[in-house]
Amino acid sequence: MAHKLKTRLIHAGRGAARDIGPVNPPVMRASTILFDSITTWRDARKRRETERLLSYGARGTETAFALEELITELEGGYRAQLFPTGLAAIAVTIMGYARAGGHVLFADSVYAPVRTICSHFLKPNNISYDFFKTDGSDFEEKLRPETQLVFAESPGSLLYEMLDLPEICRIAHERGIPVAVDNTWGSGWLYNPLELGADVSVIAATKYLCGHSDVMMGIMVANEKAWKQIGELPEALGQVSSADDASLVLRGMRTLSTRLAVHGQSAMTVAKWLQQRPEVKKVYYPGLADHPRNDLYERDCKGGNGLLTIELKPEYTLAQAETFIDSLALFGIGASWGGYESLVLPANVTGARSATDWSGHGQFIRFHIGLEDVSDLLADLEQGINTLNK
Ligand SMILES: *Cc1c(COP(=O)(O)O)cnc(C)c1O
Repeated sequence: MAHKLKTRLIHAGRGAARDIGPVNPPVMRASTILFDSITTWRDARKRRETERLLSYGARGTETAFALEELITELEGGYRAQLFPTGLAAIAVTIMGYARAGGHVLFADSVYAPVRTICSHFLKPNNISYDFFKTDGSDFEEKLRPETQLVFAESPGSLLYEMLDLPEICRIAHERGIPVAVDNTWGSGWLYNPLELGADVSVIAATKYLCGHSDVMMGIMVANEKAWKQIGELPEALGQVSSADDASLVLRGMRTLSTRLAVHGQSAMTVAKWLQQRPEVKKVYYPGLADHPRNDLYERDCKGGNGLLTIELKPEYTLAQAETFIDSLALFGIGASWGGYESLVLPANVTGARSATDWSGHGQFIRFHIGLEDVSDLLADLEQGINTLNK
């Protein structure tokens, strides 16, 4: 009988399981791998084209292979590849498909630094690009005969817009265009792009997979067709992640489902509490009934995570929003999210969208709700939000 995913999260990716030995795959650091003869060395070099095996440190060691196996299991892919950052995984995925004279179509909700890949890599290499609206209304008309890749993110960065991903994939695939999705929000657990029809799922393991704010890593998971097309590029471009980092992410992932359940539950409590506050114009959280595509969230997501964004009423200035942020005791001020702790930052939504105009809105504040006791978080938010009325 096939085990449930929650059980597989615990038991997959354990390397060569032994009757006697450590629970976790040991950290295997290596550059040189030694062979006992030229014949076995040649054999390994031949087999590494299709198998994950030890041949040279740049191609990973047993620790990386165990992590790749676990994430492949969760995402339902054919193979996975580790990268030094999430952004590197995104960049190499795009480079795998985009060629001079071609075109890449992005969801307007992509992680904002992806726009820098556009301006600093696609544009100088004569690859054009566009952004489509997250309600999908202009998706088909923005596809071109020369479109080589659709790159989406759902739920989207900062505002958590839900795309109808199966529909996007259907339309793209009808024209033979592959679809890659940034799945950092879902992180191998809450959302499954490959199951919804995408060809490649990219995750910043820096966030929930690590879960403890002390590792930088990206992971690309591809279906078989996509792997055959772009699977050799990461190695060709020298992409690798250290065995120590792979071990930390593997360790973090064992509690992924448990952590996300608490992040999601607490974030929903905070979201509903913030909805009641008169200072708040809108709370952006895909699990809320008033989210414009809550139906897609209910259909496609297993639950929510700790991310939520609020828009303050327009009478509050940036300086007031910043005083609110500074007054919070339990929310750290810093980039990234997905660790066990709560975080807060102002969100530049206008700069992160171009197919839709977000100017003229109130101040946006993005929270990551951590694993603290939610009543302490609410008390902290209450004293903080009260500073707006001083
Ligand atoms: C953080 C993030 C990334 C980039 O990950 P890094 O490891 O910081 O490069 C990519 N996509 C999304 C949605 C993210 O939130």
